[in-house]
Order: sequence, then C-alpha cells, then structure tokens
Amino acid sequence: MADQLIDSFGRVHNNLRVSVTDRCNLRCTYCMPEEVTFMDRGEMLTFEEITRVVGVAVPLGIDKIRLTGGEPLMRRDLPRLVEMLSQVDGIRDIGLTTNGILLADQAQALYDAGLRRINISIDTLDPARFRQLVRRDGLDKVLDGIMAAKRAGFEPIKINAVSIRGVTETEVVPLAQFARTHGLELRFIEYMPIGADHWERSKVYFADEILEQLEKNVAPLVPADNYDPRAPAMEFQYTDGGGRIGIIASISRPFCMSCNRVRLTADGKLRNCLFALDEIDLKSMLRSGAADSQITDAIRRNVRDKWEGHEINTSRFTKPLRTMHAIGG
Ligand code: SAM
Repeated sequence: MADQLIDSFGRVHNNLRVSVTDRCNLRCTYCMPEEVTFMDRGEMLTFEEITRVVGVAVPLGIDKIRLTGGEPLMRRDLPRLVEMLSQVDGIRDIGLTTNGILLADQAQALYDAGLRRINISIDTLDPARFRQLVRRDGLDKVLDGIMAAKRAGFEPIKINAVSIRGVTETEVVPLAQFARTHGLELRFIEYMPIGADHWERSKVYFADEILEQLEKNVAPLVPADNYDPRAPAMEFQYTDGGGRIGIIASISRPFCMSCNRVRLTADGKLRNCLFALDEIDLKSMLRSGAADSQITDAIRRNVRDKWEGHEINTSRFTKPLRTMHAIGG
C-alpha cells in the first residue's frame, strides 16, 4: 500500500494508542507520583478531535486503536467515543486498557458501543499488597469489574500485571490460577523506567523467571499456536489446555524492531515511542484550522523520525519528562 506509515527502519505502523485522559483514580507507584497536577480539561482533545485524527490516520494504514490513559474510564461518556471510533471506516479493532475500578458500571455500555477487547490491570490479588502498590483501596472493585466484563461478553479479557522484583515473585502463581479459573489471559509486563520511582534493571522480575515459576508450580507451557517471535507479547499456552499467558519483555527481550505503534496523548501530542523525547503538537494544528493534508504530513513526519529503539539497556537511555500516566500506557 503506497500510503503506509513506514519509518526509516522499514517498520509499518498500523496501531494507534489514544490516551483519553491523564487523570487516574489510582496512584500506582511504578507509574506516577502521589502528588500530581493534571492537565486542564480544555487541554484534552475532544471526542470529535480524536475521531478526526483517527479518520485522517486510516488512509495511512492505521486500523487498530487502543484507548488508554491515565484511567480511560474517568473520561466522561467514554462509550460515546467508542461508538464514534467504531463508525470510522477502516478501523477493524478497538481495545481498551483500564484499571477496572469503574468497570462494573461501564462494561455493558462499552460493549454495547462496540468495544470487544479489554485489558484490565491487576498486579496482585492481596488487598494489602494492592493498597501498597497503587496507594488506594479498590481490589474488590477491580474484581467486580472483571466479572462484569465477562458477563457483558468481552473476549478476550486480558489481565495486565507489571513484573517488579520483590513484588511479583509471590503473585505469579495466584494470578495465573485466578486467570485459568476465570478463562482470562494473563500478561506480565516487565517493569519499565517510565514511572516516578527510581528504576534500575535489578528491579525487574524477568520473563524467564516468571516462566520458570509457572512451569514449576502451575503447568508446563509451550509457545502458543500463533507464536510470533516479533510480537510485543511472547505468548504461551498450557499443555493441559488451561489457557494462555503472555509476557511483554520490554527489558529482557525488547521488541522495538517490530514496533508498529504511534501514540496520541490526551493533550493531542503525537509520540512515536513510549520513550520518545519529542512530540508533535497536533492539538494546535487541529485548533488552528489545519487541513487534513497537514495532519497527514505531521503523522508521516512523526513516524519517519522514529528512532531505532528505546535504548533502555544502554548508557544512551534518557527518561522522558512525562510519566506513564501522562503519556498513555
Ligand atoms: N489506567 C489504565 C490501567 O491501569 O490499565 C491504563 C493506563 S496504564 C498506564 C496502562 C498499563 O501500563 C497498565 O497495565 C500498567 O500496569 C502499565 N504500566 C504503568 N507503569 C508501568 C511501568 N513503569 N512499567 C510497566 N508497565 C507499566
């Protein structure tokens, strides 16, 4: 396709992650500081603005959207955005990543609006540990949210757990058993240097260690039928038929060379990498009467300038100024 978004390393981009707010009802230690100044609501792109950007991106090959934040369910009327995006011709897949706190109330409306794929973040099933990690209570609400998503018919439902040394060791087996019992796909994400806390490599509980625990204590695993060594998540399935697990090994097995993502922040900045140091200000363009062709050029420029990789494992790594909640995870 002549118009595809291809960067200078030949990577084709079809995946746009859209952050709909930087606000959050949790304060996960690995993601954001306790004290935080959120952006003014007027700074956030309206649903119409987001839909316009998506509509302009589709002819460039974007066909997959993930809504995220902050906590996306804190954005009022989110199902309306889902409905607007699902009507954009050429969008074949809309997903959502949520902490689940508000999901019990919204799952059905989101499903009815056209959302089918949902990732729910939960790092532990222990209420005290939960409070320690996210600095708030609410584990019961997240669990209610997961059950509401099941009742609404979401498929697949994936559970995201950040993998942090000193935390995750004790959580791997209970989370895996919980996921197997409820027919959910569990995904561990290696802890990345994008939060407010001081990060170092030794704080990451690595993919290999997770796999070893699962094989020893849950059931043997084999690469999933559709295992794709270039995909962000390494996917495995239990040999006893008890479901699948995924590991996003951003640190021990970076997948930058197969990255197909571009990001739009809640305040309308385009980023070609979670760890990008530069952004393109689409919001100013949208609000000053830019033509679609100018927005197209900006998206192309952003992808063209994408660097080779996040450099986390090198001395060249520079942490972005914004933390995860303000970029969109
Ligand atoms: N609030 C929503 C949620 O909790 O799923 C969406 C935004 S959150 C930033 C998206 C994902 O990023 C969550 O699964 C979260 O656990 C993950 N995340 C946040 N900080 C991270 C970090 N430093 N390393 C790895 N994953 C992180």
